[in-house]
Amino acid sequence: QAKAQGRNTYRYYMESLTRAANARLTLESKLRHALDNEEFIVYFQPQVSMSDERILGVEALVRWQDPQEGLVQPGRFIPLAEETRLIVPLGAWVLRQSCRQMRIWRDAGLPPMTLAVNLSIQQFAQRDLAVQVADILETFDLPSSCLELELTESMLMQNDAHGIDILNELQELGVGLAIDDFGTGYSSLAYLKRLPIDKLKIDKSFVDGIPTDRNDAEIATTIIAMAHNLKLSVLAEGVETPEQRAFLQDSGCDSYQGYLFSRPVPAESIEALFRRT
Ligand code: C2E
Ligand code: MG
Ligand code: MG
Ligand code: MG
Repeated sequence: QAKAQGRNTYRYYMESLTRAANARLTLESKLRHALDNEEFIVYFQPQVSMSDERILGVEALVRWQDPQEGLVQPGRFIPLAEETRLIVPLGAWVLRQSCRQMRIWRDAGLPPMTLAVNLSIQQFAQRDLAVQVADILETFDLPSSCLELELTESMLMQNDAHGIDILNELQELGVGLAIDDFGTGYSSLAYLKRLPIDKLKIDKSFVDGIPTDRNDAEIATTIIAMAHNLKLSVLAEGVETPEQRAFLQDSGCDSYQGYLFSRPVPAESIEALFRRT
């Protein structure tokens, strides 16, 4: 009896493991196919100044137009893209595609703005990253100062010579460097101070609790004060309400990004947002 039950349990787990592995394989091959067939699309979310909501820049955020499922959000495919290293060609595609779009906006006479692009740890590990970035900027005749790369604390905390070299090369090239999701990792201040970083992006999880959650509010104001001490600019992520904006503005935060101003939108909608302001 017990033995039979054990066998059944075993079979049950084997079957569900097989199912999970198959689902993963299917998704992986669909992702490869999607890359070859240009099923990805870049959306852009404005980053605006806290005081007057002027558009200072946009962040490039990738989506997948799956022929069966429609528009798929990055949370559902970036983790697997990272595991399978597909993020390296995908990330390069996003950078190229969004620089191409910047060229179009500049040619159309839109006011100058910056382009922020997320980097994954595997892109960051490439020895020739700065050369790749320089090549793309040259292809689209863009000044390096209009590009900002977003890194995460965990990428910086590897604390290896390679990472520091890459950061220095990118800084020498003249691109801006921002730390994304700031506050969720464990980077130390003393360490941050030695890195060529320009901006901190306060993670949405802290912004969510503002202004009612005392801890979140306290963390946000502390990050802002600390960033300014280090001569870094601060952007708040995920601002959804006027109350959050007011609190952050009073705390001296420089800029924000969030549904309050605009969700991420297709490239064509960005011009309309400029006309609105
Ligand atoms: P992230 O870089 O921290 O991007 C901000 C995310 O917050 C975006 O989600 C954006 O749509 C969302 N967001 C912005 N404002 C609000 C708001 O007011 N309310 C709410 N609820 N959400 C807001 P998204 O586009 O789903 O992207 C999720 C994550 O996927 C990104 O987080 C980034 O880590 C990753 N990702 C997206 N595109 C790329 C890419 O091209 N390369 C890499 N490596 N990662 C990417
Ligand atoms: Mg980001
Ligand atoms: Mg973020
Ligand atoms: Mg995030």
